[in-house]
Amino acid sequence: MFSKILIANRGEIALRVLRACREMGIRSVAVHSTADADAMHVRLADEAVCIGPPSARDSYLNVAAILSAATITGAEAIHPGYGFLSENADFAETVEAHGLAFIGPTAEHIRTMGDKISAKTTMEALGVPLVPGSDGELLSIEEAYEVADRVGYPVLIKAAAGGGGRGMKVAQTPEELPEAWSVARTESLAAFGNDAVYLEKYLDKPRHIELQIMGDTHGNVVHFGERDCSLQRRHQKLLEEAGSPALTAEERDAIGATATAALSKMGYRNAGTLEFLYQDGQFCFIEMNTRLQVEHPVTEMVCDVDLVREQIRIAAGEPLGYSQKDITFSGHAIECRINAEDPDTFIPSPGTITVYHPPGGLGVRIDSAVYAGYRVPPYYDSMIAKLIVHAPTRAAAIARMSRALDELVVEGVSTVVPLHRRILADPEFQKGDYTIHWLENFTARGK
Ligand code: ADP
Repeated sequence: MFSKILIANRGEIALRVLRACREMGIRSVAVHSTADADAMHVRLADEAVCIGPPSARDSYLNVAAILSAATITGAEAIHPGYGFLSENADFAETVEAHGLAFIGPTAEHIRTMGDKISAKTTMEALGVPLVPGSDGELLSIEEAYEVADRVGYPVLIKAAAGGGGRGMKVAQTPEELPEAWSVARTESLAAFGNDAVYLEKYLDKPRHIELQIMGDTHGNVVHFGERDCSLQRRHQKLLEEAGSPALTAEERDAIGATATAALSKMGYRNAGTLEFLYQDGQFCFIEMNTRLQVEHPVTEMVCDVDLVREQIRIAAGEPLGYSQKDITFSGHAIECRINAEDPDTFIPSPGTITVYHPPGGLGVRIDSAVYAGYRVPPYYDSMIAKLIVHAPTRAAAIARMSRALDELVVEGVSTVVPLHRRILADPEFQKGDYTIHWLENFTARGK
């Protein structure tokens, strides 16, 4: 086992990794920008190294500075968290070239899955069902018309390099195709430096259901069930649940068996998430994330597993030590992302948190790195906390989350808490009756 790990991230996820390290008796090294000198991950780590100015490009994305910090402190492994360098194949390769362990999959698998077109081709060859659409990259608008005619409108033009919901445009009719085509390509070029796009049928009432996978370096692959992440605004997740209110245990077992068989054939190692759109009883693969997800805690609560600990054990070469039948699901978990944003416009609201009181009690977990007096910097993501509850049933989890949100006090910045309260009180949400389009309609109705 490692004796020291460098955490190449900030905020709640840096703390999350640090907590796993401490429980495993592993020393932790925090890295931070000058804007984060007073951050909790810096205070709680065994050692901390400043790696640059506030801009992420010069600090949390600064590979040379991060590797120097690892060398100076004698860290043996690097955990990338999510975001930043977590899905950067060149980074994973460089880390390993320096004789350090990368706590994640191989660079080759990160690269394959990082390009959504090669991810889909790979998964299709491994027997995973896809959303109907183009066979790879679209080379001309004429080809886009042909594929759209074949699969039927509406269609979605998507960036091969896409992420965070960017580079994605819907065309309801053939007349709308030229604009969707050019906007998706321009946006993708600006955001990712690559204008390759592909086409998918735009599903009208899917749920976003994803599967948590874990593989070791000895050929064992298991899944930890599904998360329902259908509640999104601008294609970004806001509230997640485990399990999905729409899925039966048999459906979970079936998609789990398909996914683990595929990843086992690939020789996949460490944590990964297969994202699907689920409609009319059918799963359609959309992409794979080769890292820990923001919403991993809901899985941890229902499976009683520490996923970060598993990632670290696997990176150190340990076998999983259990098989699929040992993984059981208990009760229901919900996560609300608490973003420092206006709850109606979603415009970020950086500033100083003047009062902070986290909720507590049975079945309540808060993953956050903020405190009273903390200045939410304007340079990074606006998520300041994740509130997670676990209860025996979905109805009890909803009641517990409502109670916990009532206890949570954050003053000084706006947060999306009022929106979460309204969602939890809505009868359709309570019935579990929602798709990926539900939240945008809900906010548009002024709820
Ligand atoms: P990103 O990597 O940018 O997050 P994804 O491919 O994961 O992009 O899609 C993000 C979200 O966009 C999905 O969760 C879903 O809400 C929506 N979406 C993606 N593909 C489709 C599709 N074919 N039909 C309808 N909605 C889609």
